[in-house]
Amino acid sequence: MANQRLSDTVTLSVGSVLFKTTRSLLKTFDGTLLSNLDELSTEFDARENVYYFDRDPELFRHILNSYRLKEVHIPRTVCPLVFKKEMEFWSIPIQMIAPCCWQYLYESENNLADLNIVMNEDNDYKKKWSKHNHVIPGEKDVATSAEMQDGTGQEIHKKGIEENGSRRSKIWLFLEEPASSTAAKVWYYFYIFVVLVSVVLYLIWLVPSVRVSRYLSTLDQDSIDVFSLNSTAYEDLQKTYNEKIMMAGGTDPHPVLLAVDVFCIVFFAFELLLTVSVCPNKKAYFCDIYNLIKVIVCLCMTITVVMEINKDILKENNRVAHFMMACRGLASLRLLLIFRLRKIFNSLHIMLVALKHSLKELMLLLFTFLVLVVIYACLIFSAEIESDMFPNTQLTMWWAVITMTTVGYGDFYPVSTFGYILGVVCAINGIIVLALPIAAIAGVFSNLFSRNSEFQRHKKAVRDDKGVLTAKT
Ligand SMILES: [Zn+2]
Repeated sequence: MANQRLSDTVTLSVGSVLFKTTRSLLKTFDGTLLSNLDELSTEFDARENVYYFDRDPELFRHILNSYRLKEVHIPRTVCPLVFKKEMEFWSIPIQMIAPCCWQYLYESENNLADLNIVMNEDNDYKKKWSKHNHVIPGEKDVATSAEMQDGTGQEIHKKGIEENGSRRSKIWLFLEEPASSTAAKVWYYFYIFVVLVSVVLYLIWLVPSVRVSRYLSTLDQDSIDVFSLNSTAYEDLQKTYNEKIMMAGGTDPHPVLLAVDVFCIVFFAFELLLTVSVCPNKKAYFCDIYNLIKVIVCLCMTITVVMEINKDILKENNRVAHFMMACRGLASLRLLLIFRLRKIFNSLHIMLVALKHSLKELMLLLFTFLVLVVIYACLIFSAEIESDMFPNTQLTMWWAVITMTTVGYGDFYPVSTFGYILGVVCAINGIIVLALPIAAIAGVFSNLFSRNSEFQRHKKAVRDDKGVLTAKT
């Protein structure tokens, strides 16, 4: 009896289908579940001399075949992720998968990872504000279905309904969720409109024809004797006579423009203060880069306008003028407020997400680029040592950047034969170095974009399909 049990033939019952094989075959992969079977195994039935497993016999056929082939091939009719789980059950190590099946497995895993990114981004917003209610009509089922799976969603959902009535959460939804009501949608588009108006305003702010002269005309340029001034005064004068600074400092914006700009500032500040005051999670609110931009834009716009009105400060102090110019520069960030559109245009949001997840590729691009710039800068400096074209290495670095990005201003150019050759190599190298990571980033975007379309499609299907059974959790 004992001899029979330990004989080479093994009978396995997998999902009530019998498989007969030899013990020596099962020893092919040492350390796997099948190679370790003996009469002490819990699956062993001594009376019938059979090992019982409650697994899918269809999948087991392929598992058993791996022992014969000495490598694992994933059947194309099975989801590779399911097959991976099956391999885990039989404790077959992942390195046994044949290279021909790697793509099949890892592509699915990557797709799933991308899908998770997309779904997290979608739920991210809701989770962040989970103290508050965010039951958006028509969206609630899908929004919480993912959360339900880990058991926490139900509680949040219930809590959300309880708080639904509070006035703060209503204002919050009105301000932050254009999908929550028609009024919120109107507010949302009005906000975008104000952003656009403020951007147009910014662009025409310093156009000479819409500015009103202030004290420029009263300054008589000819009466100043340049030679009698000391050096600092002369420098100041030079700075003052910079055409752009003269215009910014010596003229006022048209009163209508000023009024509209003040309206925009009041609007942005009002929106910001109101949102912050009803925000359920202030820390999370200010961790969002978009909201930080809102704060910066509000501050800079206010400073710019206050200084524009009290221009006498600028006349006295050149530093203040530069500070104002810096604020004006930062105030151009108002254009970024247009990214509020990401709430409606999902693919815009996915583009930002793709950039966020391509950080590694971007850093790689920057690093390779910098290394090459330094190399070409040093080479061209040596090659052009006899000409007076490249006076120092800072300028050769500038030349390398401009050549590698194929901009080619032409302010510095090689004149020697070796310099020409270097220029050609540098330009071609630039194209290649820039193109490669960009393809990778585009790949990330395209993947995320596809997964997002699938997710949106699925969301819509769930929303439309109200009669389906839901799995109990
Ligand atoms: Zn294969």
